[in-house]
Amino acid sequence: MLESLKKMFSGNEGELPMNTGSKPDIPREKSAELYEKAKKYFPGGVNSPVRAFKSVYGTPLFIQKGDGCFVWDADGNQFIDFCGSWGPLILGHNHAKVREKVTEVMQNGMSFGAPTALENELAELIIKNNRFVEKIRFTSSGTEAVMSAIRLARGYTGKDKIIKFEGCYHGHSDSLLVKAGSGLVTFGETSSAGVPKSFAEETIVIALNDTKALEQAFIQFKDQVAAVIIEGIPANNGLLMQDEEYVKFLEKICKENNALLIFDEVITGFRLGFEGAAGHYGINPDIVTYGKIIGGGLPVGMYGASAEIMAHISPDGGVYQAGTLSGNPVAMAAGIAQLTELLRSGFYKELNSKATEFAESIQRFATARNYKLKVFYVGSIFWIAFTDKDKIQTAEDIDPASMEKFKIMHRELLNRGIYLGPSGYEVGFVSAAHTKIELEKAKRAIFDSLDVVFRNK
Ligand SMILES: *Cc1c(COP(=O)(O)O)cnc(C)c1O
Repeated sequence: MLESLKKMFSGNEGELPMNTGSKPDIPREKSAELYEKAKKYFPGGVNSPVRAFKSVYGTPLFIQKGDGCFVWDADGNQFIDFCGSWGPLILGHNHAKVREKVTEVMQNGMSFGAPTALENELAELIIKNNRFVEKIRFTSSGTEAVMSAIRLARGYTGKDKIIKFEGCYHGHSDSLLVKAGSGLVTFGETSSAGVPKSFAEETIVIALNDTKALEQAFIQFKDQVAAVIIEGIPANNGLLMQDEEYVKFLEKICKENNALLIFDEVITGFRLGFEGAAGHYGINPDIVTYGKIIGGGLPVGMYGASAEIMAHISPDGGVYQAGTLSGNPVAMAAGIAQLTELLRSGFYKELNSKATEFAESIQRFATARNYKLKVFYVGSIFWIAFTDKDKIQTAEDIDPASMEKFKIMHRELLNRGIYLGPSGYEVGFVSAAHTKIELEKAKRAIFDSLDVVFRNK
């Protein structure tokens, strides 16, 4: 092992000592070496910050391959994966149908910057099976989709301000990298260097699940609010399940104030069901954004709305939005193959019942042992929270100190062959590729890891 790596590991060991019942660490030398190299090329050694393993033990694992519900790292360790590339891989890794379709389409070239029939095909799959969008526009990422949806809302309403909620993530565009200040209704404060204060002042940030704050915001900024944006079900900062009445209230107050309701379903779209959270709640958002799953693992995002609203997008209307690789044929192919599988009858029923059983048995185990832990779940999304609260509905309800327990669990799970996203604020995903056998294995590993976590409480 390189001297510098040894130091890195021993540094981490000092920071997080082995606990009673801990499994010995798996070999991580190759990943650690690759990480050292990556740090020369990329800030923090990564191309997206959470991958750097800053809030868990050790250096990031470099993944070599994935198949079904498994991934293998550079050291040859095998894991049952619950990160699923952060959500897109609802069929698991390297699904044969997706791989075959992509391979077939690739034979004809990668990109043309001109329309192809594949765009129609994916659009038709989405629009015909979803009540919430009549016309859509493909982008290359979720960030881009949301950023464009906001511009559309502003262009359509002729108003500038938007309301977002503390604890919701909508990608990294300037208007949305804002967090709440102190007070019930506040202008956003930038949550990233480089975002002009004046941009942040167009974004009003309030707490989730607070009808008073929303009413107050609409009074304070009367006739200035273009849109309210919320994640279909907030799932980027824990899993913050909102009550149905609250979501219905959102819909109503937006209508009353001529503001558009934007449902950011980049994570929930095609995850909770083919109609995402909008279908789950039975409400009708004005603009919907999707991403992740619709690309089958390749970079795709989209936004959609009624034909009347979408008529404001160029070249039909005055809201400009474009993309060199938008509607890329290879990415469309992956999306077509994946969504076709999701439309098979019983797909979601089977997936969701598997995930429910998984989440509930972890909960039963923890409850039986009096462990301070709640598993929140919806569809095939789950979040293990070290709390005794029955509900966590706002960002403020999450106790940052509880993340220390996650950190121990994460390490124990890696050492037992289970891969969770490297942060306690991130949710996990069950995919169609997780069979009963692997879910049983994963459960047992989680039980043993929790015993370690709580033996050392
Ligand atoms: C992932 C995500 C985004 C950003 O999508 P990218 O493809 O990472 O740009 C936006 N909104 C939500 C709700 C997301 O989960």
